[in-house]
Amino acid sequence: MTSEEIFNLDRQYLWHPFTQMQDWASTNPIAIVSGDGVRVRDSEGREYFDANSSLWVTVHGHCRREIDEAIAAQLGKIAHSTMLGLTHEPAARLAQKLVEIAPKGLSRVFYSDSGSTAVEIAIKMAYQTWQHRGHKNKTKCIALAEGYHGDTLGSVSVGGIGLFHGIFRPLLFTAEFAPSPSRFQSVDDAVSGIEEILKGNPGEVFAVIMEPLVQAAGGMLIAPEGTLSRVRDLCNRYDALLIVDEVATGFGRTGTMFACEQESVCPDLMTVAKGLTGGYLPLAATLATEEVYSAFLGNSADLKTFYHGHSYTGNPLACAAALANLQIFADDNVIPGLAPKIDFVRQRMSEISQNPHVGPVRQCGLMIGIPLYKNADTAEEYDWTARMGALVCDRARALGLITRPLLDVVIFVPPLSSTRDELAAMMDIIEQAIVDITQLDYDHESRYAQRVKSAL
Ligand code: PLP
Repeated sequence: MTSEEIFNLDRQYLWHPFTQMQDWASTNPIAIVSGDGVRVRDSEGREYFDANSSLWVTVHGHCRREIDEAIAAQLGKIAHSTMLGLTHEPAARLAQKLVEIAPKGLSRVFYSDSGSTAVEIAIKMAYQTWQHRGHKNKTKCIALAEGYHGDTLGSVSVGGIGLFHGIFRPLLFTAEFAPSPSRFQSVDDAVSGIEEILKGNPGEVFAVIMEPLVQAAGGMLIAPEGTLSRVRDLCNRYDALLIVDEVATGFGRTGTMFACEQESVCPDLMTVAKGLTGGYLPLAATLATEEVYSAFLGNSADLKTFYHGHSYTGNPLACAAALANLQIFADDNVIPGLAPKIDFVRQRMSEISQNPHVGPVRQCGLMIGIPLYKNADTAEEYDWTARMGALVCDRARALGLITRPLLDVVIFVPPLSSTRDELAAMMDIIEQAIVDITQLDYDHESRYAQRVKSAL
């Protein structure tokens, strides 16, 4: 098919996620046809860096031979078999591996197929746990402003991003929102909002749900160090379960396999998805402690069964991909190799933030948000309708790099497999795009421009 034929079909039949389709109709779309390592190629043969890991899912790069082969081998056996009343080897082996690498104390794995469903499951499990334990008044869930946990109605209920979630409020269950920890310097202040709600609703809160260390979709908002472990303490003190949503942070993104490790926290429930299959196939899991799991045990007549399950839960192809993904982490010593890459990005970001239109860069491992300002010194923001973040990303595309903004925060989440040179080239392009769009009057020659000149 030619590019034009693909675009015509797209324009006639498709509805894209998180996309204003009226604008889409007048843009020149890109149709991706292949990928290799940290690069993807479009239908015109142009190459781009995949600088947001295809929405934070790609881990070891595109077309990793080991994952390709694992899926092909499983395909030769069976593509799908239900987990309702049956089991299979890839699901069982993967559950064992996940328990091995997860924070100690998480011992049971419940599969689903997206981050949103993993969160739905965690919320329902937390609520039902207390119901079975006889705490019928525990009907409240604490969530955080600026938090994001997915797009299904349960996960939207605990979502704190007005732009995405506000319109749906009448359809949602009511969560109690504490301020985003990122708004505060000290841990005491960061957790005080959560404690106030726990204190003010004695015996009524069944869970606190949060993203660990960084609120990703909120714009890479970083919590003060120690916030997660303090919330763990609060949950213990006030008898609420802690749900940690590792959908974005899991599988090395923050520099450790799971962000929880950095504060030695074991949640009662933990959600994972995105990087679980290395970015290959939709698979998610909700991990639970034995205490949570055992609250559901009984005779059928006790009505303690967890009545929840999706058609593609524990899909064998996806589980085979996930097993191969985890094997690469071990074989390539991926986690120990991340620290120098993270330091290198930090160094380069401190240079990029010298730009008068760039605010303090938010970085948690290889999850980076570059906030754009009209005037970074005074923190004067751009009018959001000017879509500066989107314009910078459009420019980056023209220079050979794909990423998406979160409003006026340019997001950089490279695959963990990116080499130092690849990271350098990606950051040069991002800097150039920012220079081109924000500061026609800024007397600065970016590394990208220098590189282009020296190549001429
Ligand atoms: N939770 C977090 C922390 C996320 O960042 C996301 C997606 O970005 C989700 C849940 C939802 O995941 P999915 O898009 O797979 O439903």
